[in-house]
Amino acid sequence: MKDAHFSSEDAMKRHIYADNAATTKLDKVAFEAMVPWLTDEFGNASQPYSFAREPKKALAEARETVAKCINALPEEIFFTSGGTESDNWAIKGTAFSDPTHKATITSLIEHHAVLHACEAIERLGYPVSYLSPTTRGVITPEILDSTITDNTRLVSVMFANNEIGSIQPIQDLCAIAHSHGALFHTDAVQAVGHIPIDVKELKVDMLSSSAHKFNGPKGIGFLFVRKGTSIVPYMDGGAQERGGRAGTENVAAIVGMAQALKFNCETMEENRQKVLRLEKQLLEKLKALGVKFIRNGERPLLPGLLSLSFPDQDGETILHRMDLKGISISTGSACDSQKTAISHVLQAIKLNDEYAQGTIRVSLGKYNTEDDVDYIAMSLVNILRYKT
Ligand code: PLP
Repeated sequence: MKDAHFSSEDAMKRHIYADNAATTKLDKVAFEAMVPWLTDEFGNASQPYSFAREPKKALAEARETVAKCINALPEEIFFTSGGTESDNWAIKGTAFSDPTHKATITSLIEHHAVLHACEAIERLGYPVSYLSPTTRGVITPEILDSTITDNTRLVSVMFANNEIGSIQPIQDLCAIAHSHGALFHTDAVQAVGHIPIDVKELKVDMLSSSAHKFNGPKGIGFLFVRKGTSIVPYMDGGAQERGGRAGTENVAAIVGMAQALKFNCETMEENRQKVLRLEKQLLEKLKALGVKFIRNGERPLLPGLLSLSFPDQDGETILHRMDLKGISISTGSACDSQKTAISHVLQAIKLNDEYAQGTIRVSLGKYNTEDDVDYIAMSLVNILRYKT
């Protein structure tokens, strides 16, 4: 890539997807595994007749596959419609199972699926405390220690932040929660399928996940609930998922999720190495081209997720100019793309306005290439320097 200037023809020809923290491309293995359940094998898995036998078997196998990937028991996996539902269930299902209204602790950098679920239980009289992270976006054991009491019922801290990529010390936070008799939930939507997760080792009681973040289909996910955890259903209705989550099972999506997770866990290290190489290439290129920026978050960070802040720039403008060049990235948080205000995460880490306004998120995935990264870097330079 010799020239810093690209014609609009270049942009017309290419589309570079660099928003893998928002969603990911469906893996071919997942798609192919789904097809039979969308065509000939369309039976309702909960029916007693023989036409339900195959879908029922597929559900059991998918549950086993998912469980194995996070070292859980199959009966500890409950299929849901995705990360949002899993988070809502964990927060509300444990609150509503507690007549004494003990307190919930969460953090200011959680996804809105957790934050808004917490606000909802607060309105119903369940107290919630919100922990402030360090300026690098970490909830340290000391921060949790300063707030937790023996009157805490649940601590919910995300595994990895979706805006800045900071990975939290989950095992230590969970140990603190347990030492006060509290349950521990983690929203691991950004982590599952990308970094190793072993629920036995971590000792978490609940863990949320969403298939479309690890190259599975959209609208499906799961909540891991450790055996014996006190939680009531969130979705009321039929007796599916052993009475834990009502609603006819989406067999095709569940099978697709299981295949995507298995494939991503089997190829995790090579994917990780690849995106780490790509992010290094991007950072080095920007530095070599003399671009002034800071990278938010503190190591360990999610591989491929770069929250970059440019002084005296506007993230929204960068996003739209990148879009015109055929590149999909996001500002602060993808889920916040309708709002122009500084995201709640950037506010929580107290990033100063000069940098916060000029923040973008580039999230590289296993399908990105070195050419993609060159084009992203050169496009960014053109936008920042020449406003083109
Ligand atoms: N939690 C986190 C950390 C996320 O990044 C997201 C999606 O961006 C969600 C929850 C919501 O997941 P879903 O899109 O499956 O509802």
